Amino acid sequence: MQSTASHQLEIYNSLSGKKESFTPISKEYVGMYVCGPTVYSKVHLGNLRTFTSFDVIYRYLCHIGYKVRYVRNITDVGHLENDQDQGEDRISKKARIENLEPMEVVQKYTYDFHGNTRKFNLLPPSIEPTATGHIIEQIKLIEKLLNNDLAYEVNGSVYFDVVKYNKSNDYGILSKRKIEDLIHNTRSLDGQSDKKNPQDFALWKKAEPKHIMKWESPWSNGFPGWHLECTAMSNKYLGEKFDIHGGGMDLKFPHHECEIAQSNACFGTNAANYWMHANMLTLNGQKMSKSTGNNILPEEIFSSGSPLLSKTFSGSSVKFFMLQAHYRSVLDLSNDALVASEKGFNKVIDAINILESFKNFSKETNFDIDKWSKTCYEAMNDDFNTPILIANIFEAVKFINKVTIGKAELSEKGSEELLRYINSFVFDIMGLEKSDQSIKRNNKLDKVMNIILELRNDARINKDYITSDKIRDLLKENGISINDNNKDSSYNFD
Ligand SMILES: [Zn+2]
Repeated sequence: MQSTASHQLEIYNSLSGKKESFTPISKEYVGMYVCGPTVYSKVHLGNLRTFTSFDVIYRYLCHIGYKVRYVRNITDVGHLENDQDQGEDRISKKARIENLEPMEVVQKYTYDFHGNTRKFNLLPPSIEPTATGHIIEQIKLIEKLLNNDLAYEVNGSVYFDVVKYNKSNDYGILSKRKIEDLIHNTRSLDGQSDKKNPQDFALWKKAEPKHIMKWESPWSNGFPGWHLECTAMSNKYLGEKFDIHGGGMDLKFPHHECEIAQSNACFGTNAANYWMHANMLTLNGQKMSKSTGNNILPEEIFSSGSPLLSKTFSGSSVKFFMLQAHYRSVLDLSNDALVASEKGFNKVIDAINILESFKNFSKETNFDIDKWSKTCYEAMNDDFNTPILIANIFEAVKFINKVTIGKAELSEKGSEELLRYINSFVFDIMGLEKSDQSIKRNNKLDKVMNIILELRNDARINKDYITSDKIRDLLKENGISINDNNKDSSYNFD
């Protein structure tokens, strides 16, 4: 294990509701399962925030010396519209609407998802299993649940008996819900359900004749319930008990609660020692929603643009914005916040560029690199606190900028050390990249562009639109766009 700070890694465990020291089951190895996307539509920016959070967690665990097996599944069947067992399979529905084979829908949106994870420079998981590739394992689990008398079959469908399970276990252990409240709050659909109790959930559903995605099973031609696939796949690749189980906050209930119930009923464990949840991303203070138009797709941020944004942003700028909030806090996205984050990110990259080419060394370094790096590690060891890490990195940026104007001293050894640490934190742990934008952009060009923008603004104030338009058009011909949406004009490379 690499020595990284004076205190060790602590993780907030949703199961206990507090931060706990992280001790893996086997000394050097970590098993981590994260619930992946349901590939029936383009990936949400909120989902990308979740996967970004777990990418940083994965990167940091590897950085401090663990051998991590990171499993993130693809849900390519069985996710019904109404959470558990009502409505149509979303993938089948999309296939019908788009007139595609269900597997074409799955492939199309898996490509879309992978394309966006690459834009965000997320490391691929060690294993990325699909639900459809693990039907046999899911059937075996159902058989086990039936044998253990915690599931029952009705008309070719099989349900998990939540009430019976709760007699000797705690259904609600993760979400802190009480089963009595759940019974009270669940509407019973008389005559429409085969379930004994409204809060029971489907393990296997008999398919209607028109249903496209179906498999043979001992009970019927049908398809598995959504919660079962994660229990089957995490068990297959990580064992009955593993270290970390993660996902978005919205999965805590019912999905993760049901996973815990299934795992307890099959193996007598809560599946993972640490349950971690990444919080939501809102847009302009409100929940993102396609129907209200308060929604931005990743591709709109990166390339095509959106009426809600003044310009496009690189994956790393957006990622930097996300990491400026703790993964357990709600994060609000807005144009102003993205513009400010991009500026901050460019400052960090500029400082790295300065450090890489710096030659004007002094004998001493008047910045305590040792103490500073420890503070950075302490931030990460405190439940992966990236906002504190970034605040620390800005302290180093401030120092580097002081060095360039001769107000601080940096030795050759100090410069190498500082660069090594900053590179580790920025590129290896946070997985940010020097984007095309930041490579093209440098201090001098920025200054020249600010002069040009100022001259153009003067022309506009004097109503000399011929000159101001000429400047804009000539820059455009050379691949530089001017944005006049803000108070101050800004520019970006096409
Ligand atoms: Zn899952």
